[in-house]
Amino acid sequence: MALGGGREIGANSFYYGLDGTGLLIDAGLHPEKTGWAAFPAIEALEGKPVDHFLITHAHTDHLGAVPFVRQSYPDVPLYATSETIELAKIMLVNSASLLPKQHSQEVIDRLPFYNVLALPETIQKMRPLELGTSQELTSREAAGTGIKVTYYPSGHILGAAGVLMECNGRRIFHTGDTSLHPQHLIAGAQLPEGPIDVLVSESTNGVVDAYLTHSREKELERLIVTINETLAADGSVLIPVFALGKLQEMLTMIGQAMQEGKIPKVPIYTGGMGRKVSAIYDQFLTSRSRTNEVDKTSDVEQQELPRRDALFGGKYFREPSIVMAASGMMQDGTASYLLAQRWLRHAHFAICFVGYTDPRTPGYVVSHAQRETRIKFGSMKREVPVRCRIERFRFSAHARREELLEIVRRLKPKHVVLTHGDEKAISAFGELILENFPDMIVSAPEVGKWYRLD
Ligand SMILES: [Zn+2]
Repeated sequence: MALGGGREIGANSFYYGLDGTGLLIDAGLHPEKTGWAAFPAIEALEGKPVDHFLITHAHTDHLGAVPFVRQSYPDVPLYATSETIELAKIMLVNSASLLPKQHSQEVIDRLPFYNVLALPETIQKMRPLELGTSQELTSREAAGTGIKVTYYPSGHILGAAGVLMECNGRRIFHTGDTSLHPQHLIAGAQLPEGPIDVLVSESTNGVVDAYLTHSREKELERLIVTINETLAADGSVLIPVFALGKLQEMLTMIGQAMQEGKIPKVPIYTGGMGRKVSAIYDQFLTSRSRTNEVDKTSDVEQQELPRRDALFGGKYFREPSIVMAASGMMQDGTASYLLAQRWLRHAHFAICFVGYTDPRTPGYVVSHAQRETRIKFGSMKREVPVRCRIERFRFSAHARREELLEIVRRLKPKHVVLTHGDEKAISAFGELILENFPDMIVSAPEVGKWYRLD
């Protein structure tokens, strides 16, 4: 059952009932919804056993509702990679601090596990299950057969895992968020040997998207050109990034371009939470997630982005600079959201989007805005004129459409379950699978409904 992340990218959470043993994978917070709809639908599990709880990676839409689920299942053992556990210390505190902005006091009052005293206990409960290792899990009450779970590096971000579940001679692979292609710091995913019986796949990039077919090298070249043209006109460049993953990738790529003399040495600004995440990337240089052991984010010289209330006084408005600010989708109230309101007014400035923006977010509105028009986004009362240059690039941390198909080809499942994608992405990818493998069963679970996988 999908408890979230069925036919959408949301509060990702999945339940597997395998020969009497109940497994939960992930519990995310929906980035846009408010109230209980932003949490996984765990009430749908009424009466089912929940024996073990596995986390695939530390992004908020997979991890942010772990304290919420623990309110109902406080004693269920939790597993995550060491990298994810370290990242969770930052990410869960961040989730907790954002809750009051997204939810009414009535909802907050019913979330005791998010207070500062309860969060460390959730972290303490997490047991390390490392990439490339397995664990036998059994039902905690009934005498079930037991399940063997193995964490495979899934690319995407530091510590991210795909989960192979083996039970009674049958094999289910849950991709988690995955990318086969290597990024600058994070290596491509490793997959189990095929064939498997069921593949539960993410589908983020399932729809054809012309600019997704650009290679990373081409996109980087294009970004460097935009940065150079902007700096040459005495302007500054704003790059909205996710604090976990995208910041570390962009920072080290741009840092390297500066080292190689492809971009002039100008100040690079990064924000508080992203810097803490970067320190964890540097702490796990030999992680199985990584492409190499030498690229340190701390080798790139950075200035600290001023606090929220001082953002408009930053030196980047007076001297050419590169500012990497969260959030990637310019969510209301974040540094990139606030900075964009000023950036847009300066004709010689540029905003470079480097990842996916959900159509419901301010980032989408800004990234699709035409120059010399006026726009309003998020909670803004008045329109602002669009004078600056706006460019979109894709440095996706998710498998491209062809890679998603490649995973199906390599694992040869009988049944493919599509999750973590909007309806367009899921139906486009589902059609692609059936064109190539007409005998496969393809399904797209609805949140809160039971599906049999055999
Ligand atoms: Zn993710």
